[in-house]
Amino acid sequence: MKAFTYERARSPAEASAAAARMPGAKFIAGGTNLLDLMKLEVETPRHLIDVNGLALDKIEAAPEGGLRIGALVRNTDLAADERVRRDYGLVSRALVAGASGQLRNKATTAGNLLQRTRCPYFYDTNQPCNKRLPGSGCGAMGGFSRQHAVVGASDACIATHPSDMAVAMRALDAVVDTVRPDGSTRNIPIADFYRLPGNTPHLENVLDKGELITTVTLPKPVGGTQIYRKVRDRASYAFALVSIGAVIQRDGTGRVAVGGVAHKPWRVEEAEAELPRGAKAVTDRLFADATPSPQNEFKLLLAQRTLSAVLLEAKG
Ligand code: SF4
Repeated sequence: MKAFTYERARSPAEASAAAARMPGAKFIAGGTNLLDLMKLEVETPRHLIDVNGLALDKIEAAPEGGLRIGALVRNTDLAADERVRRDYGLVSRALVAGASGQLRNKATTAGNLLQRTRCPYFYDTNQPCNKRLPGSGCGAMGGFSRQHAVVGASDACIATHPSDMAVAMRALDAVVDTVRPDGSTRNIPIADFYRLPGNTPHLENVLDKGELITTVTLPKPVGGTQIYRKVRDRASYAFALVSIGAVIQRDGTGRVAVGGVAHKPWRVEEAEAELPRGAKAVTDRLFADATPSPQNEFKLLLAQRTLSAVLLEAKG
């Protein structure tokens, strides 16, 4: 691990300003992903700004009728919160489908959104990887791509986003609230938060340098039957091959976001109009522009069958 300097931030604005001022600075909270990446020297921050002391660990009612989740709320606490379980069951179910109990006890809401891909070539510094080292190439293309993206990928990167919680947040139209180094704040709909890889796969979201997530706001409850179904290579502690986060209403309408298939949680709102016609009609629209490799084209049928199972479950 490379040497780094360390400070504890005393306020979100101070943390943000420090991150913009210090070259090579990174925020650290739970550290469940960042510390692994630092040990492997995939990430080599020169300065760490510890945000754990900021009072961002509360879950509160939002004035507009939703729920405001502090960036530092631990995944375990968010999954177990009575209001989340009652009104946003999709978030709770997605969280408990991810990682392990120990990791969920440490991992934070903001950190979950910002975790890096689990592409094995990204973690292996002997391999080319445009995300880790822009311009170096992509080891996954022409390599093992079974776990990789089938839609929204580029010639530079075919990685997937690993978060389960982000899939649920996308289906529920969460909003990411931030503070910037100049003290201004903004509210970014999660639909606009993540980038596709394009020619710059090292840029994964729209946050500016030093911009700090302070809360994530869930809009008013949308009701419906909320289901998170995750298909993976083993029963626990594994990332999704395909996951479906769905909200299905009594009349058959609903929302569907898919994990494990793209550089971000994959949702195409127009595809949801097809829900009354069944899973195939929806996934045909969701994956109309898919460009799978021979190793991962199975994900298209797997997504269709997983959504089929979700729709059956929603019908009871
Ligand atoms: Fe790197 Fe993306 Fe290629 Fe994986 S898929 S090796 S993260 S560029």
